[in-house]
Amino acid sequence: MGAESWIQIVYVLSAVCFILALHWLSSVPTARRGVLTGVLGMALAVGGTLLNPGLVSYKWIAVAFVIGSVIGVPMAMMPMTAVPQRTALSHAFGALAAALVGTAEYFLRAGTAHMDRITMGALAIEVILGFLTFTASLMAFGKLQEILPQRPITYRGQNFVNLGILGAAVALGGYLVVHSGSTSLFLLMGGLSLAFGILLIIPIGGADMPTVISLLNSYAGLSAAAMGFVLDNKLLIIAGSLDGSSGLILSIIMCKAMNRSFSNVLFGAFGQVAATASAAEQKSHRSASAEEAASLLVNASSVMVVPGYGMAAAQAQHKVRELYDLLTEKGVKMRFAIHPVAGRMPGHMNVLLAEADIPYDSLLELEEANSELPQTDVALVIGANDVTNPAARHDKGSPIYGMPIIDTDKARTVMVIKRSMNPGFAGVDNELYYLDRTLMLFGDAKSFVGELVKEAEIQSGG
Ligand code: NAP
Repeated sequence: MGAESWIQIVYVLSAVCFILALHWLSSVPTARRGVLTGVLGMALAVGGTLLNPGLVSYKWIAVAFVIGSVIGVPMAMMPMTAVPQRTALSHAFGALAAALVGTAEYFLRAGTAHMDRITMGALAIEVILGFLTFTASLMAFGKLQEILPQRPITYRGQNFVNLGILGAAVALGGYLVVHSGSTSLFLLMGGLSLAFGILLIIPIGGADMPTVISLLNSYAGLSAAAMGFVLDNKLLIIAGSLDGSSGLILSIIMCKAMNRSFSNVLFGAFGQVAATASAAEQKSHRSASAEEAASLLVNASSVMVVPGYGMAAAQAQHKVRELYDLLTEKGVKMRFAIHPVAGRMPGHMNVLLAEADIPYDSLLELEEANSELPQTDVALVIGANDVTNPAARHDKGSPIYGMPIIDTDKARTVMVIKRSMNPGFAGVDNELYYLDRTLMLFGDAKSFVGELVKEAEIQSGG
């Protein structure tokens, strides 16, 4: 059997790994296996490609490997809370690679018999999506890392200008399909795509970046799939399509969980609404000490923890695990209500709780948690805000109206750990905090849960 047949076999195995990885990644207990299988699939894909001596120069591959490692290793060490911006950076690099390969292929083929219309069409898609994803992902990184202003910057006619620039790039792509030799128009198409990526992100608030990144993931995947058509590489077509469709599905799930449409995320300038809505009137709330809160927890028969972004920011998950161990030992039934968009990235809470080895079977999805909350003694909200706001159910003027929430307000007692009365992501006041049965526990989530553990130990005679 020749080298080409071996390469194709390795590619098929790699594609199988990618499909299994996605399947296993969709459930918490099998997610680790999914990651490892994805890594194996990628190793096979790279190894299979390197088997092809006619295509590669190992010297240049080694140079790229060293440069990639110098950038990639520190990126891999970014903290868990920075995963959205880390993901944005890796999309930027992936998309840039696809766009540069597309550019190189164009200049190799332009004006030769190797450039038919279908190839040119695929090249145009690859280069437009690749370049716009590159700059858009860098902008998303800048906003999330707070290097760039987070607030949406808008002006009259902005959507018109942006769509005009994208339309011009697409029209140039269409022209090139018929007249592929116009190199200057090809460069103009690339330049317009780069500009569109920047302009696309300017009107989007920093807080919407995770959804945008998931969408950019999809674009980078489609760009890679187009590259597969250009290079006649079936694995690239499969992997790019999987990447493109999974990114799109994830964006749809995120939009649904926030009750927002794609167009609202992309063109709605969400952070601006939030800023004005945050000017809340003065209402009264009750607060409690760690001692009082621990007493309620120790004497409860059921506790539902609602974790949110604040638990991630404070890295409180290990203290939460200590509380879980202590209360479970005392016979308290403690479970976790996981909202699909709690935190700042999909699966954020699952990852943190898994890191602290909290058993999967104590994690409840939104519907299941909501059916249990009316019979629950204490709902303990740890750094969550929007995902518990009852206004989402009835206040048509609220930016989160219609978003499914965790019905924390239906529990017998509600306790909320956060540092202040400040709003969360959507910038709106939370009526949960002003209910008669709500106690505010002010403090950093990690230190407050630590105090709860100490007090609970004392009170339960430990
Ligand atoms: P949230 O509404 O942003 O609220 C988080 C709360 O945590 C804040 O009110 C903050 O209050 C508190 N906090 C921050 N640091 C803390 C600390 N060190 N200790 C204690 N508390 C701390 O978060 P959420 O309830 O998890 O809701 C997520 C929001 O993000 C939703 O609106 C969702 O639509 C949006 N979103 C999520 C995703 C996703 O994929 N998960 C993607 C895009 C958007 P203090 O400042 O008073 O402490």
